[in-house]
Amino acid sequence: MARPIVLVTGATGYIAMHVVQQLLQGGGYRVRGTVRSLKNNAKVDALKALAPTGDNPLQLMEADLLEGGRVWERAVHSCTFVIHTASPFPTEEPRDEKEVVTPAVAGTVNVLQACSVTDGVQRVVLTSSVVAVSGTTGADDGSKVYTERDWPHSVSHLSAYAKSKVLAEQKAWAFVKALPPERRFELTVINPSYVMGPVLSGSVSSGSMVLPQRLLERQMPMIPHLNFPIVDVRDVATAHIRAMTAPQAAGERHLVHAANIWLEDMAKLLADEFGRHGYKQVPSKRAPYFVLWFASCCDRSLRSVLGLVDKQTTLDNTRMRYVLGIEPRDINATLIDMCYSMIDHGLIKKKSKYTGRENATT
Ligand code: NAP
Repeated sequence: MARPIVLVTGATGYIAMHVVQQLLQGGGYRVRGTVRSLKNNAKVDALKALAPTGDNPLQLMEADLLEGGRVWERAVHSCTFVIHTASPFPTEEPRDEKEVVTPAVAGTVNVLQACSVTDGVQRVVLTSSVVAVSGTTGADDGSKVYTERDWPHSVSHLSAYAKSKVLAEQKAWAFVKALPPERRFELTVINPSYVMGPVLSGSVSSGSMVLPQRLLERQMPMIPHLNFPIVDVRDVATAHIRAMTAPQAAGERHLVHAANIWLEDMAKLLADEFGRHGYKQVPSKRAPYFVLWFASCCDRSLRSVLGLVDKQTTLDNTRMRYVLGIEPRDINATLIDMCYSMIDHGLIKKKSKYTGRENATT
């Protein structure tokens, strides 16, 4: 019997490349990926390099989230599973939130609509986010434990990105609920915390790249008192693949999260590991709030984090561990693996003293 086809949308993305790699390595599926442009050689070549030669090729198709109708129907044709990761994850707050919100929401509807008119699609795995659980603002001292039952109370004060994820996920649940039974497929949602870990290409530009770049290239002289819930990109990819078939995953959300870290501790970890490679200027001093407030007038990437200073978000990863069967990796290794891979792929400037890592563990 032919192996089922899995469609991965936004296959050139940071997370999606790991999903594609793990699907291909597992060997149980044929993989189809959508990309925005097949002419983007840097992105497409890195993706093609993931496909082993032989009988398990990776099929690529062009599709933009804003295109409806036939484009997505062609992409979904013959697929048993769809992993919908494509969605803008900007590195800074856009001038107009529609730049992010519209493709996220309209794209989710376009993909789900195509699934609903295509025979054979059994389950769609949607990449949502922790921000669709906890939001990006809110007075949070870490004592509340967020679970999959939580949603932000309102989207009005959220960043454009957070708003895009909340609205897209809500739309997805409503869309599937409204389908007539004969057109219905299963929906399952992955809500990762901040995703870190190795990159598979020098062309990825996810918002995840910002912190390692800013710390190792000293793009910030002082460190905001920010806390990040982190998860490894390899665990996130595994979560998507397990969520495709795990019986108890159908119709459910899944917080995918390893541990929290303060930015100061992250900086110290990276200074300890990368100082000997010439990265001597990793910042170590805490930035007072008023300095951040002033800086956010010029640096739009700071605007979305102002409300998070001194705050901590505690997340329950029970479903990740017991439904998807994933024991999260140690986040110190995640962060170190990420920085080595970013330097090796040219996403962080290579210092002349850099000698690479001694024992690669990715
Ligand atoms: P990424 O590397 O920026 O990937 C986003 C993907 O979406 C890219 O392949 C991009 O295509 C595609 N895309 C964006 N706009 C599109 C459009 N109009 N039409 C078609 N494709 C479009 O970011 P990522 O970190 O891998 O994020 C993947 C998913 O995970 C997103 O849904 C994001 O919200 C979610 N997520 C990420 C994190 C995290 O910390 N990274 C945490 C929680 C959830 P191009 O390659 O052509 O730009």
